[in-house]
Amino acid sequence: MSDHAVLRVKGRVLVGPEEVRGELWVVGGRITYTRPPGAREVRTVAGWALPGLVDAHCHVGLDHHGAVDAATSEKQALGDRDAGTLLLRDAGSPADTRWIDDREDLPKIIRAGRHIARTRRYIRNFAYEIEPEDLVAYVAREARRGDGWVKLVGDWIDREEGDLTACWPREAVVAAIAEAHRLGARVTAHCFAEVALRELVEAGIDCVEHATGLTEDTIPLFAEHGVAIVPTLVNIATFPRLAAGGAEKFPRWSAHMNRLYERRYDTVRAAYDAGIPVFVGTDAGGALAHGLAAAEVAELVTAGIPPLDALSATTWAARRWLGRPALEEGAPADLVVYDEDPRADVRVLAAPRVIVLNGRVVG
Ligand SMILES: [Zn+2]
Repeated sequence: MSDHAVLRVKGRVLVGPEEVRGELWVVGGRITYTRPPGAREVRTVAGWALPGLVDAHCHVGLDHHGAVDAATSEKQALGDRDAGTLLLRDAGSPADTRWIDDREDLPKIIRAGRHIARTRRYIRNFAYEIEPEDLVAYVAREARRGDGWVKLVGDWIDREEGDLTACWPREAVVAAIAEAHRLGARVTAHCFAEVALRELVEAGIDCVEHATGLTEDTIPLFAEHGVAIVPTLVNIATFPRLAAGGAEKFPRWSAHMNRLYERRYDTVRAAYDAGIPVFVGTDAGGALAHGLAAAEVAELVTAGIPPLDALSATTWAARRWLGRPALEEGAPADLVVYDEDPRADVRVLAAPRVIVLNGRVVG
């Protein structure tokens, strides 16, 4: 299509959770609610339109062995796109995927640089593995390399302890988070367990990934500080298998993982009820396939989050949190059209009818 070509989306345009319009137009790749004069090429798409879905925790350029090549990264990004996921927050990747920014046909990515972990305290080949005295320098570098986020591994199995323990001393995270903020970046951390959460929040962290270890002690603290969580329930579903694999060698760790798994829905529901911002993330790229945002929304509903808020956690609220537009006038036309109202039943998200990215129909 040329710059003057027009796409019309007709039916129910869900501009916000409660704001519905009858149609929108796409001109020059952007959204407008005013019928463009002199439009010479029109394609009409009908249905229920949502902003392109957000996966706030996935990994492009990574599989379970570590960094992957560009062709594999492209397939991962296409897996997201073809499921209607058009904005990704990449929660750590050892591959340079910056070339994707030049591809109008691939989802937009907000990067957190590469994971920063303690030595031998994360999955092999994923992270920079360092000691606390180097944390500030690595955080500064990833803050400059990324797109406004830095990713720490906050807890992991300590093989000597035989259980999950915190990875960083308090002073190290306080200094590192202050440095990231000074450079204009937000910080998030992988945390499965209870142990690291209070210190990270008191150090000023902005978000915690997984957050399965939230308790009645730390939930009010997160709420008070406005720290968001990205539960990745589709990934937490793998805990029993991981726990079984390590049961013989690390029985305490294994039992701990199973307990976190058993209470996962209660944890997410309690966090939501306390007012903690909850967003959709799948953790695709490590072990899971890309394109699971719809499944994660369904999991949040199973946990007890009202459907409209679970939907917002991958659309309007998620985009606001990440500083990206939704379906506002002048925004890039990144949207997904469904046959039925996704507010009535979030399972509708699993079957997009039409996917529009940068104003072009891509699926
Ligand atoms: Zn992850």
